[in-house]
Amino acid sequence: MAAFLDGVLPATLQEKIKSSKLLVVGAGGIGCEILKNLVLSGFPEIEIIDLDTIDLSNLNRQFLFHREHVGKSKSQVARESALQFNPDVKIKAYHDSIMATDYGVNFFKKFDVVLNALDNRAARNHVNRMCLNAEVPLIESGTAGYNGQVELIKKGLTQCYECTPKATQKSFPGCTIRNTPSEPIHCIVWAKHLFNQLFGETVDDEDISPDVADPEAKSEVEESSNGDGEKKIDETVPDDGNVVRVNTRQWAKDNNYDAATLFNKFFYDDIKYLLSMSNLWKTRKPPTPIKWDSILLKQDELDTSFVRQYHKIWSLAECAVVFSDCLKNLKVNLEKLEEGDSLVWDKDDQPAMDFVAACANIRGYIFDILRKSRFEVKSMAGNIIPAIATTNAITAGVVVLQTFKVLQNELDKCKSVYMRLRPNPRQQLLVPEKFLTPPNPNCYVCAADPAIHLRVDTKKMHIKEFRDEVLIKTLNMVNPDVIVDAKGVVVISSEEGETECNEGKLLSDMDIVDGVLLKCDDFFQNYELSIIIVHMDAERDDTMFEVIADPNQLKPKEENAENVKSTGKDNGNDASDGPSTSKKARINDVDDDDDLCVIEDDDDDPSIPRNAENATAEEVIKATDKLRVQSPEKSVATKRKTTTIDDDITEILDSDDEDGPTQSKRTRTSEPETGIINID
Ligand SMILES: [Zn+2]
Repeated sequence: MAAFLDGVLPATLQEKIKSSKLLVVGAGGIGCEILKNLVLSGFPEIEIIDLDTIDLSNLNRQFLFHREHVGKSKSQVARESALQFNPDVKIKAYHDSIMATDYGVNFFKKFDVVLNALDNRAARNHVNRMCLNAEVPLIESGTAGYNGQVELIKKGLTQCYECTPKATQKSFPGCTIRNTPSEPIHCIVWAKHLFNQLFGETVDDEDISPDVADPEAKSEVEESSNGDGEKKIDETVPDDGNVVRVNTRQWAKDNNYDAATLFNKFFYDDIKYLLSMSNLWKTRKPPTPIKWDSILLKQDELDTSFVRQYHKIWSLAECAVVFSDCLKNLKVNLEKLEEGDSLVWDKDDQPAMDFVAACANIRGYIFDILRKSRFEVKSMAGNIIPAIATTNAITAGVVVLQTFKVLQNELDKCKSVYMRLRPNPRQQLLVPEKFLTPPNPNCYVCAADPAIHLRVDTKKMHIKEFRDEVLIKTLNMVNPDVIVDAKGVVVISSEEGETECNEGKLLSDMDIVDGVLLKCDDFFQNYELSIIIVHMDAERDDTMFEVIADPNQLKPKEENAENVKSTGKDNGNDASDGPSTSKKARINDVDDDDDLCVIEDDDDDPSIPRNAENATAEEVIKATDKLRVQSPEKSVATKRKTTTIDDDITEILDSDDEDGPTQSKRTRTSEPETGIINID
């Protein structure tokens, strides 16, 4: 190997490389580049894991893959391609999720260094915890457009991936999505949920029917139906009486996915029902139900070429044509799958994307919300974020350089590196952090006795929600156990069926009220966490819950502002004002499957210091601190927002509903379209 020619690498490093064993997590944009670099550097033993398969749209930047590999396992093809550079390397490829229970702490302990090349937060959090447990150094990396970041995570020495709460995730209350949408994004989220109800994996939270539990409408429903309001919704609903339990998929199948029948149900009957919840419309413009027949479709007269005009806003009739067409296509795609399998929504899948664009816009017409072109809907619905081959390549190069330092035990030199869009005044494109950032003493993962406060309406949150939304989705546990500390009452058990009876109860039903301490434990992650409950009375549209890692955040906001002001000059070493109070900018999530970026610059944000060039990263962070971690909660965010702060640091808000390659296996609905939109 070239790297083993004398003088290319120091002899001591060559020796270290020869005796090392590495794990690469992810074989996408960054993972392919890392694997290529490792193989060319002479690393003898590498394992690589990714559960995704190769998409056509990956080929513009994941250069270990070619046209003939589309549909095949990323990790396995990456292995085969890399072996062509150096057949002597021992590469083991896993087509699997790193979060699977096969990969416990002992698996991680086998490696000298773990290199993350992931695209989603859940997997990143998980690998972070496993590496902390196994005490293996982790090199974490991410890119977003022209920005990139590489950092070392080493237990006790540096901050961990979860030392800083991630940026607020845009999310919407379920009742807004189902009952009272007011923005295009609400319609798009609803349309994606409708897709899943009809063709995809169904999730309770993604129900698209009118929400009778909406607190704003509830009293009225009870009044008008003598306390038995739910039955009025849909007479066909069985005795459990809850519209949420209507099996939309079965109903659609029974109706052979007939466009008129489905259209009338979703856009007429359901809207009529919403209108009957008159409390909702006292201060809002009521929706207008639309009947299929009223659209006067003359399908054979309509020139369907408009479907390809991605920047045009479709008329109602055009939306109806697309709706009808997509139903047919998606039905066929669904029938091709094995019984019980479902389609996965993908913005690059023509009928799936068209379906969401059409349904979102029909709902837009109904609620008089601004309609959006297919192009705009795609950018909003697809959590689209840029993926640029060169950024990935540079980032992967830095990852391997950091790996060299770790192997030579030069951990103090492994400062985080940020890649910028433009050179800074010192002509740096790759800007290193000035210091290794120490662990946050308030971190709810790597601190000695991690604890958080959970601000929540204990009279509104159910145990199931607490487990799914707080523990699993937000705190990233896999299979938690929870007991009430003072009483030893088991609230949630990881043993199947043991605590199912609690799921429907409210926290307050189980005496989980203000001040109660819960002990949570995830055996697989070897992770224990204390949760102190802080009750709040949640209003409609309030965030359902808030995770607070630093007790200082429970103080009034003014006090916090003072705190930020007074400590704005330090470099992050002040333990009393550790990073958990701030949302440190970090490139969190990159989806290697995305080709296009939507970046919202916050250049006008007055809170960002103009002299940020001279500020340390931490100063910039403090100045932009919003002190809040929001849950992804009931509804699902579909918008990813990128805020650029002085180009050094990028912060990405994103949703967890995107199935990254390590989260779920994808079933393609069809071949993705080839059109790749250039960014520049
Ligand atoms: Zn930490």
